[in-house]
Amino acid sequence: MRKTDDSAYPASWYAATRDQAPERPVLSGTREVDVAVVGGGFAGLHVARLLARTGRRVAVLERRCVGWGASGRNGGFVGAGFAERSAAIVAKVGRDHARALYTQSMRGRAVVRAVIEEANRPGLLMGEGRLVVARTDQGAGFADATRAMADTLGATFEPWTTEQVQAVATTDRYFQAVHDAQSFQIHALNLALFLAAETERHGGQVFEASEGRALVREGTRWRLSTALGEIRAPHVVLAGSADLGPVHRRLAAAVLPVATYVAVTAKLGPKIAEAVRWAGSISDTRRAGDYYRVIDGDRFLWGGRITTDTSEPARLREWMRGDILSVYPQLSDAPIEWAWPGTMGYAPHRMPQVGEIEPGLWISSAFGGSGLGPTAAAADAIAAGITGEDDRWKLFAPWGTPWAGGFAGRAATQLVYWKMQLADRIDEARQAKNALALRA
Ligand SMILES: Cc1cc2nc3c(=O)[nH]c(=O)nc-3n(C[C@H](O)[C@H](O)[C@H](O)COP(=O)(O)OP(=O)(O)OC[C@H]3O[C@@H](n4cnc5c(N)ncnc54)[C@H](O)[C@@H]3O)c2cc1C
Repeated sequence: MRKTDDSAYPASWYAATRDQAPERPVLSGTREVDVAVVGGGFAGLHVARLLARTGRRVAVLERRCVGWGASGRNGGFVGAGFAERSAAIVAKVGRDHARALYTQSMRGRAVVRAVIEEANRPGLLMGEGRLVVARTDQGAGFADATRAMADTLGATFEPWTTEQVQAVATTDRYFQAVHDAQSFQIHALNLALFLAAETERHGGQVFEASEGRALVREGTRWRLSTALGEIRAPHVVLAGSADLGPVHRRLAAAVLPVATYVAVTAKLGPKIAEAVRWAGSISDTRRAGDYYRVIDGDRFLWGGRITTDTSEPARLREWMRGDILSVYPQLSDAPIEWAWPGTMGYAPHRMPQVGEIEPGLWISSAFGGSGLGPTAAAADAIAAGITGEDDRWKLFAPWGTPWAGGFAGRAATQLVYWKMQLADRIDEARQAKNALALRA
């Protein structure tokens, strides 16, 4: 038995405010279950909870502790949609398929909402509403184009004017926005801990410090081994994200680890309202944009930047403070209390990898940029596949699990990001020039 103590989690606002978790065992000996899940993040925990509720015998293997990866340290924004642009999804698979996928992502968001309502724990639901703001003027056609896309997808988002945006965010950086009232924000680590506890309450088992190291097919079952034990099951769900490791090398190579960062400021008091008067999340449309919200009444939880270098930068706090000031220079005295990195898994096609890739072997991965709603959407589809309810998981099939290119893939991805960031800067510089020309 092993205690999940505070030192098990990297320092973050989430770790500092997390709920107590019970002792969780290391896997030893041999267990027979219906479904084995590799990975104790949202992708793995949602599917474990959903299947445990149907009476399936479920076991989760987590290399470190529940929510240790991206799931316990992200921005906490729960939305619908995917990292890939909706227009690109429609172009690839057509309107009906794109609409069905978007509906599934909204279903994922509803699954998270239902879990939170079930938990009935104050502080788990932290805010409502999402604004995705443009940093360049989108022109007169923006509102109609946004409504048309919402209509195509059956989505709940709507356009906001620059005036509406600037009424809640005092910055001259922002123009129009897409507003989604159905999206919300959560305490991410506490949700992960609750999902694990719910899995156990329904008879499932969650093992920590238990890395899945080898996976072998034996007749109609899989044998999944760790250093000290093994699990035999007809179904295995691989939900290890960017760091799946030796348990399945081909799938591990199909996901690129991409780092992003979050910082939380000290309590700023009433002056935070000089910048933001909005209880939901704000993110911008740049390729590597800012994403943030107000927490604890008067702190910023501010995320941003992406890089394929997953080590923690020495000047992280300084960078994050600079990012805040570049949008809200009025908050010149905003010390950072916590700053931390996290790693997301990205597929080259920017869509999650979801589905049954061999009989009984399921993948639920590559949620970078897609995130908290889609992990639950994938879990809902995979659980329905395993129980034989339906094959909604096939909605994700057109994207498959192509190789992400290992080290060369990382270098190529970094180059693409730099190119995209440069394009963002050029767009903004052009915008600034136009603004000056208008004033002159
Ligand atoms: C800083 C940051 C901010 C973000 N902000 C948002 C946001 O606001 N909204 C949003 O929607 N998305 C956000 N994301 C993305 C989102 O957090 C992820 O897409 C999502 O949490 C992925 O869940 P996951 O379960 O696939 O991966 P993870 O949470 O990384 O979980 C994978 C787990 O598997 C374990 N594991 C891996 N291999 C093995 C193995 N072989 N054996 C046992 N265990 C293994 C790992 O230890 C890890 O705990 C953010 C990500 C980061 C890093």
